[in-house]
Amino acid sequence: MSSQNPVFIPGPTNMPEVLRKAIDMPTLDHRSPLFAEILHPALAGVKRVFKTTTAEVFIFPCTGTGGWETAITNTLSAGDRVLAARNGMFSHRWIDMCQRHGLEVVVVDTPWGEGLPAERYAEILAADTGHTIKAVLATHNETATGVVSDIAAVRQAMDAAAHPALLLVDGVSSIGCMDFRMDAWGVDIAVTGSQKGFMLPAGLAIVAFSRKALAAVETAGLPRTFFDIRDMEKGYTANGYPYTPAVGLMNGLKVACDMLLAEGLEAVFARHRRIAEGVRRAVFAWGLDLWAARPELYSDTVSAIRTPDGFDANRFVTLAMEKYGVAFGTGLGELSGKAFRIGHLGSLTDVMTLSGLATAEMAMADLGLSIQLGSGVAAAQDYYRSEPGSVRMAAE
Ligand SMILES: *Cc1c(COP(=O)(O)O)cnc(C)c1O
Repeated sequence: MSSQNPVFIPGPTNMPEVLRKAIDMPTLDHRSPLFAEILHPALAGVKRVFKTTTAEVFIFPCTGTGGWETAITNTLSAGDRVLAARNGMFSHRWIDMCQRHGLEVVVVDTPWGEGLPAERYAEILAADTGHTIKAVLATHNETATGVVSDIAAVRQAMDAAAHPALLLVDGVSSIGCMDFRMDAWGVDIAVTGSQKGFMLPAGLAIVAFSRKALAAVETAGLPRTFFDIRDMEKGYTANGYPYTPAVGLMNGLKVACDMLLAEGLEAVFARHRRIAEGVRRAVFAWGLDLWAARPELYSDTVSAIRTPDGFDANRFVTLAMEKYGVAFGTGLGELSGKAFRIGHLGSLTDVMTLSGLATAEMAMADLGLSIQLGSGVAAAQDYYRSEPGSVRMAAE
């Protein structure tokens, strides 16, 4: 099976040549000054991508899930209450992790396809006059449903209640693709991984702690060893790690930050918005709809497409891979069999996107869905022609 086609899964994303080369390097001693020349620029680059000047960044050799664990174990204690909405598979998994750590989760069950219910958060926080809730969890972009939420509104809800809880945000499928403002939104911990907006293989959890989150570390009682940021801080001060870092990936991260910042974050966001809009126009031209309930919830990194009743969407994903060698995302959890997902984040051009849309049309037609071949592609072409963007990413 060919591996030349781009992938359209919402992570891991397509890798630019520059980054594939950046991670392919000879072994170097991670206790030598050579590593410091990778570590410090990578930390500085991440801060700029997260839009923070005051937070401290920590990079763990693991995936984004380890970033969630870093956030909760460093700031919370067994029995602490946390507030979280469940509006998709990723928010569900973070809640599950909290429960397994002995935290008491106040779960706001929210229909899949909706965003975070900031108004419900405001009511619950206002009623929590004893401030027993220690943290509010927010999944910025629910990758399962293709829904982006308003983190500024969550912050406003917390401020309106004058509530001191920490704001912990999963930005795994948004950071580096859609606007994310750690400082301006008052985010206390932001989490991402290397394999989405940073266009690298999986293997790094990238986490930033605000001053307030750093202060909470001193009193947090949950057990932690591998993820203890105090050990990581000591390591960084000595230009190293408490254990062996993933040197090649760290070098890739340094270069990925350079690429994103050279293109300009606002240009990166505009590119994602334009590519996503072409995909959405194609979906509507097919006569299909998105799981995201309203336009303001449409994610610019992933679209979850609602398939007709009685049609098993998993067959679509299997056929597209087996017959055409193209990967799309399946429906997760509640959406299994009811959705397929097109990931459109990271290193992607208009032309690559059109190839994915054309493939989706062939696979849908093969499975008997009443799709006019070319209809979605034409809608996207019309949009891309009328909204010209840069044909190259910076430093590609
Ligand atoms: C991909 C993803 C994660 C993390 O997954 P890992 O496989 O552990 O890297 C977490 N949250 C969201 C929203 C994601 O899209």
